[in-house]
Amino acid sequence: MLASIPSATVLGAAGHQVTVEVHIGSGLPGYRIVGMPDPSCRESRDRVRAAVMSCEGKEWPNKAITVNLAPSGHRKSGAGLDLAIAVGVLIADEQLPPDAAAGYGFVGELGLDGTVRRVPGTAPMVAELGDVTAVVPIAGSAEAHVATRRDVRVANTLEEVVAALERAAPWPDDLGPQVGPPEPTPPDLADVRGQPVARQALELAAAGGHHLLLVGPPGSGKTMLAQRMPGLLPPLAREQALEATMVHSAAGLTLPRGGFVRIPPFRAPHHTSSVVAMVGGGSHALRPGEISMATGGVLFLDELGEFAPSVLDGLRQPLEEGVIRVSRATSHATLPARFQLVAATNPCPCGGGPPGSCECDDIARTRYLRRLSGPLLDRFDLRVAVARPSVDDLLDAGGGEPSAAVAERVAASQAGALARAGRLNAALHGELLDQVAPLTVAARALLRAEMERNRLTGRGYHRVRRVARTVADLAGGADGPVDDDHVHVAMILRTRLRAATGLAA
Ligand SMILES: [Zn+2]
Repeated sequence: MLASIPSATVLGAAGHQVTVEVHIGSGLPGYRIVGMPDPSCRESRDRVRAAVMSCEGKEWPNKAITVNLAPSGHRKSGAGLDLAIAVGVLIADEQLPPDAAAGYGFVGELGLDGTVRRVPGTAPMVAELGDVTAVVPIAGSAEAHVATRRDVRVANTLEEVVAALERAAPWPDDLGPQVGPPEPTPPDLADVRGQPVARQALELAAAGGHHLLLVGPPGSGKTMLAQRMPGLLPPLAREQALEATMVHSAAGLTLPRGGFVRIPPFRAPHHTSSVVAMVGGGSHALRPGEISMATGGVLFLDELGEFAPSVLDGLRQPLEEGVIRVSRATSHATLPARFQLVAATNPCPCGGGPPGSCECDDIARTRYLRRLSGPLLDRFDLRVAVARPSVDDLLDAGGGEPSAAVAERVAASQAGALARAGRLNAALHGELLDQVAPLTVAARALLRAEMERNRLTGRGYHRVRRVARTVADLAGGADGPVDDDHVHVAMILRTRLRAATGLAA
């Protein structure tokens, strides 16, 4: 007899519908799985068999079992099909009524003792189940609710699933999306002492969507500043929240209470991260990398120059397109990767040391910074020198302005930019820049003078104009042109790397 059970797999951050067909015939006893299963999928036999035998009154059919994963065109990976296979086997073997699973779709891995376990990607998988009620492990309930408007059924064990399908017992209580830890609040800008320039740079970066490079010695608070960026950004809108949630689910991260990722994510991968960890992929399943987990939020790269050049190269395409395409021999996926880049670097190999102690010569400094040069550096509209806070700043009891106050200005400025040009200022290019960021005569003269003195390159000119637009927006001048005051602030915040590091210009 044949059973046909809806389920799904995940590739990258997207779910794919899979129909699990189980046929049981009278041939030689055995278990065959076809339809491009990967090794983890193939191993389902041992898990499903043990789980079925753990159910009171159920037995593993000693017959010819064939499992077909349809459609056969794409590779299926992971253990999320286990539950559907087990239900299919029981129906095909007539240990459950033929229509027992009608109207349900199943996503979950089975333990040898029959436990139903959460698998990475529950949200995108449930989203692709189609017009059925999802049955998922209790730990996957929040993700399932995010992905479907229909009812969700949960279970701890295969035995509970079987009992509910036989109508011998009710489905276990669904605690719904209220399980899970509350979403963590980003640290507050009020904790940062002093640092007026870096604070202003953070606010501008948040308001304009500008990528930000912080240059300064250890102890200058670069990481502390970067961590406060998500608290300055508006909460994710529904579409972005859904996208971030799907990626987090596919990456196997724990979702916050309520199911949705609403606060812009903050990811800070270590400089030893591999290309796969950073951009995604992997030999078996295509998993999201750090740049996708940062989508809608901030990717912070501390010690930028220490990252492998291949890793930094891998950032260029996603920075350009907002997505990353990952390919493997048998599969490829496109994942979201729209993040704001904040990076930090020491000014020289020794990190600057205590004031006055740096003995790095110009050659060592130049070599150190050359690792950063090139197309990636062009991405940073804002490059800001950060100094260690002074003793006065550290002893000053009163903190700075809290994140909430800054976030209000950022939200207003972003809303204005989106209404004006349909994009944040960092994405203004060419004609659009001329249209929405016209210069006053004085502003034009100031920029011309800087270029004539070789203090501004052609690329730098555009960066300064974009930042100056954001300066004007935050100053309440969103409707007017960009004037020389705005340009002046943007110039100060675009410290040339050489100047920031004490190298002769
Ligand atoms: Zn040094």
